[in-house]
Amino acid sequence: MDTGIVFRRKGVEIKAIFENVVETMLSTNLASEGVKVRTVEHLLSAASGLGINNLIVDVDGPELPILDGSARGFVSVLLQADPVNQNRPQPYVRIYKPAIYSEGSSFVMAMPGRGFSVSYRLNYNHPVIREDKMEISVSDETFINEIAAARTFGFLKDVNALRARGLAMGGSLENAVVIGDDGVLNAEGLRFKNEFVRHKILDTIGDVALFGCPIEGRIVSNESGHRMNVAFLKHLASNPGGWEVVADGIRSGGCCRSRALQEATA
Ligand SMILES: [Zn+2]
Repeated sequence: MDTGIVFRRKGVEIKAIFENVVETMLSTNLASEGVKVRTVEHLLSAASGLGINNLIVDVDGPELPILDGSARGFVSVLLQADPVNQNRPQPYVRIYKPAIYSEGSSFVMAMPGRGFSVSYRLNYNHPVIREDKMEISVSDETFINEIAAARTFGFLKDVNALRARGLAMGGSLENAVVIGDDGVLNAEGLRFKNEFVRHKILDTIGDVALFGCPIEGRIVSNESGHRMNVAFLKHLASNPGGWEVVADGIRSGGCCRSRALQEATA
């Protein structure tokens, strides 16, 4: 009860908190006591999107399955597992003052707002994918219908370069949308006209779940990725003047599973 989200591998419990992030190059990877688990962001996104805050995930390999590159498979497994209400208030972090983390023109920002919403803007200088923007108010319904099925994507030229370095070996048209010079290579095309920005929202929801507590507010992101998302969470945790932990409608000291949040709210 009240475990937060925990990955279990080789007898080690790896909490899904940003302090346990060890790499963010192609995916968000966690480690604890020398045991690593890679590519946690799509499962975390599914759990967060469905409002599941306590979850033990047994992992028997170094990486979570990529499935079809989306969160759809995780959503159906989580729903089959029949989530239970723990009958105690889930503390959450309420944003009451904006906080921004930026690098050049890229940024991630937390702003006050009702519920939890995520806005993302991407801008690639590429004929197939240029500028796009979307905002979504996250609920289990909107997550399932609008976000969960959006697949990860990559550019053909990058896939080739990664393969040359021995990375993304499992990457294929079965688990990612691959963007060529003048179109998408996948025969079935896109699942949504704006599938790319939807997947960026999916990733953002998954990374933000690493704060350790659900957030009430708006996350506004401009061209950020896993590395910047984690840097943003560290920045937010180290600036406790703009948010508070609320449980059952009142300000509360205890929640947070992340060490930085515990210190900030002590
Ligand atoms: Zn992703």
